[in-house]
Amino acid sequence: MTAPSTDAAPVPQAGPAVARTRDELRAARRALDPGHVAVVMTMGALHEGHAELIRRARGGGRSVVVTIFLNPLQFGAGEDLSRYPRTVDDDLALCAREGVDLVFLPTPDVIYPGGDPGVRIGAGALGAVLEGQSRPGHFDGVLTVVGKLLHLTRADSAYYGQKDAQQLLLIRRMVQDLDFPVEVIPVPTVREPDGLALSSRNTYLTPSDRDAALALSRALRAGAEAAAEGPSAIRRAARAVLVREPLVLVDYLVLVHPVTLEDVPEWYRGEALLAVAGRVGTTRLIDNMPVAVGPGGGAREVFSVPARTTETAGSE
Ligand code: AMP
Repeated sequence: MTAPSTDAAPVPQAGPAVARTRDELRAARRALDPGHVAVVMTMGALHEGHAELIRRARGGGRSVVVTIFLNPLQFGAGEDLSRYPRTVDDDLALCAREGVDLVFLPTPDVIYPGGDPGVRIGAGALGAVLEGQSRPGHFDGVLTVVGKLLHLTRADSAYYGQKDAQQLLLIRRMVQDLDFPVEVIPVPTVREPDGLALSSRNTYLTPSDRDAALALSRALRAGAEAAAEGPSAIRRAARAVLVREPLVLVDYLVLVHPVTLEDVPEWYRGEALLAVAGRVGTTRLIDNMPVAVGPGGGAREVFSVPARTTETAGSE
């Protein structure tokens, strides 16, 4: 994905305030009081998916804080923390173009002044499946930093991508279970015209990797097109696309309940998450599609079900 061009911008834009320390953040954040503040949390290497989150966050005239923090706590040993793309100047230019008010750009010692935190937010059972199975401890690291950033930014609302469906679910659960005073808003996945979900990690892909990676979104679309016929038809249609692409090493392909993340049984009708993860070359990619299973079903942009298990688990 190419970010919108920065050259030939006719009107000079005031860039966002940039805070790198807690004191700078506190002062810049105070300047946004008493209005509604929306936060968009990122790891940088911003693309059009992040820009969409920012635009949704701004809607209705809200002030927007973007956090750019490559959180070491959510990377396991041997993962791509050291090679993760760092493009701060471009990121700040994108934030300026999108009218962001404040960018919080801390280093790890600002977020974790005492080193790795001994106390963390635990994602529980929902954090141990799918991505959590492949990346042990990942979601504890995510929730811990999300919790800290919600406190530090004092955000009224927070915008997250459906692209990271399990992360979104866990953040919603954390906010409910631990009574964070913030509204969590999901944003549909932004894709390239050929279907590839935008991701900062797409920059790792060689041209042939990229061609192969298209099988992920094609598989999801094929599954969604079989939605009327029920769960096994959906899984079969998606799998049929992936087996034809030997360059994708599939980690998982599942059709699960959007709240419990358990495989849906054959009789299930209603909203389900069709999710896939796989390795293409040296790059691990994830993608998913909310699907309405049953007559008249098909792909959806985001779920309409609430994130509570108590009200929805097994109820359909
Ligand atoms: P990241 O910088 O990858 O941690 O992502 C920061 C936020 O952007 C998360 O809420 C992601 O779910 C969201 N995001 C990443 N890629 C996309 C995309 N293609 N479409 C929509 N949201 C996205």
